[in-house]
Amino acid sequence: MGSIVAFINQKGGVAKTTTAINVAAQWAHNGKKVLLVDLDPQSSATRSIFGDMDFENTIYDVLTGELAAEEAVVASETFGFDVIPSEIMLSGIEIILASKFGRESILKRGLAEIKDNYDIIVIDCSPSLGLLTVNALIASKDIVIPICPEYFSLKGIELILETLKNIHQGLGHKIDVRGIIISKYRNRKIVEKVINDLRTNYTIPVFSNYIPDSIVVEEAHHNHKPMLQYSPKNPAGQALANLAVEMWA
Ligand code: ADP
Ligand code: MG
Repeated sequence: MGSIVAFINQKGGVAKTTTAINVAAQWAHNGKKVLLVDLDPQSSATRSIFGDMDFENTIYDVLTGELAAEEAVVASETFGFDVIPSEIMLSGIEIILASKFGRESILKRGLAEIKDNYDIIVIDCSPSLGLLTVNALIASKDIVIPICPEYFSLKGIELILETLKNIHQGLGHKIDVRGIIISKYRNRKIVEKVINDLRTNYTIPVFSNYIPDSIVVEEAHHNHKPMLQYSPKNPAGQALANLAVEMWA
């Protein structure tokens, strides 16, 4: 795993945020120094971790160049890692960045100063392949793609791969797709068929620890706790813990 990894899928509700914060919490629990960057204007990761707390300094200020990344970092004792929070203002940032020189690498430059303070930086992306996500891609060495296994998820993966190809050709940055994360898994025939198609049609590995569908995952968000604290013995909690180990290998 490279030192910066982005959780990417332009589809919403596929458990990007859920896997990002729980895998990050598990890595922190296992002794790694972790930073999570919330790059989604909807701020789901920030909300799940900190509840309704408001932050003076966010990733927005870092991207507009008004603040050093270090000054936007807040620590979460419960999750065991550092966070650069997001805010709703981020929804307007693409317009601001569009006219800036080197607009695709603003996040990369911002994180460069603090990168060495961490074993790993996790970027939780928004459901889009716009300039914010391109910034995450340029900053990252590796990406992982969380999906809910359904027919349409295959088309979505093709779009992500196309974007990676364009970035490689246009900007000379090669990104390694470490794997696909199967989330909200149910043991059904059609689900198995989709996963099978995935394994045969693409060269991307699929992580072997699927995260089962469980209402406890939703409860953990509401309680602002990682699964390893809220319900470590729950099958989804165990799968997330095992996934963290699998991803690190
Ligand atoms: P994304 O970041 O891709 O939009 P989220 O992580 O916010 O997705 O998840 C979307 C919704 O699905 C949330 O309400 C979350 O609690 C729920 N969810 C995520 N993973 C699971 C799971 N394994 N089982 C049940 N619900 C889940
Ligand atoms: Mg999200």
